[in-house]
Amino acid sequence: MAPMIIPDDLLPCDGRFGSGPAKVRPEALDYLGLRSDIMGTSHRQAPVKDLVATVQQGLAELYRIPDGYEVVLGNGGSTLFWDMAVFSLIEQRSAHGVFGEFTRKFARAASRAPHLDDPAVFEAEAGGVALPESRDSDVHAWAQNETSTGAAAPVVRHGDPDSIVLIDATSAAGGIDADISETDVYYFAPQKNFSSDGGLWLAFASPAAIERAERIKAGGRYIPEILDFSTAVANSRKHQTLNTPALATLLLLEDQVQWMIDMGGMEAVAARCRQSTQTLYDWAEDRDFASPFVANPEHRSPVVSTIDLDERINAAELIGILRTNGIRDVDPYRALNRNQLRVGCYASVDPEDVESLTECLDYVIERM
Ligand SMILES: *Cc1c(COP(=O)(O)O)cnc(C)c1O
Repeated sequence: MAPMIIPDDLLPCDGRFGSGPAKVRPEALDYLGLRSDIMGTSHRQAPVKDLVATVQQGLAELYRIPDGYEVVLGNGGSTLFWDMAVFSLIEQRSAHGVFGEFTRKFARAASRAPHLDDPAVFEAEAGGVALPESRDSDVHAWAQNETSTGAAAPVVRHGDPDSIVLIDATSAAGGIDADISETDVYYFAPQKNFSSDGGLWLAFASPAAIERAERIKAGGRYIPEILDFSTAVANSRKHQTLNTPALATLLLLEDQVQWMIDMGGMEAVAARCRQSTQTLYDWAEDRDFASPFVANPEHRSPVVSTIDLDERINAAELIGILRTNGIRDVDPYRALNRNQLRVGCYASVDPEDVESLTECLDYVIERM
């Protein structure tokens, strides 16, 4: 049987709807091409340090970070940051809100560490949200956006005043606003809303978090150098990373941060993402064969929209047809194992392309 062809006039201009890595704006790639002066040059010299400083300043401006907070970065992505927290930021015991695969991975990393007590885990079923509430934990950790389920959680301080709050904002940063003073480390990676490439982690760190890492280190704990938060802070103050960063990743990130500032900052960017995801939630609620996976509208992610389909529609087949027509990566998170669409509506995605996507969905579903 010949593959189903979606008429050209229904197709989005750009068919990339992945939840990470995600669409890179063509203008950012053009910028990358223009910066051949940077590519292939030393990260210990002024031009690359200036690039790092520009990225740090731009991110600080975008999130209006409080006085005393610092923009810290290093190699290894958000996944590395979990192990860094295990070695450098959790003193004795952490508490985790677990409501999907990414929040679970951090809790698991903490539970495996021989030098820590077993973490306190506060769990919600996929599609819900759980915040940690523990009296005897020195770290409270959860994600602002659980990319695996499309559930978003509030960012407000939990736990004792002595406990520090670590927010996984990997897919939230650059798409959802936050009051950074409610957090001690707000960490993320640039391959989602920031439309760059993977491999880097970035964090807004409070004085309390920086002090915590210094105290743990001074206490003599063995900390591998790449997982030493204090070393990352020291390098970041000099606009460097411990080891060689991907310069293309930094250039794409620089371009995206400036694009966001020019758009009007986080308020404007967040509104754009919310418009896109709302289009999908409205579409699903208007169809008898579809429904938003996250039942509570307040927890529906404004950046990653998950839509359940009933058994009459085979999501895998639908996703395959979309893919042959250039609409890519709307697959659900594998481990979730649902008959579902998951659509990344990050900052770079044009809300009009999301409208087109819903038209394509109707077109294909009618004919399946
Ligand atoms: C993508 C993602 C991660 C993993 O990021 P890497 O940079 O690939 O390690 C972690 N947490 C969340 C919430 C994510 O969306």
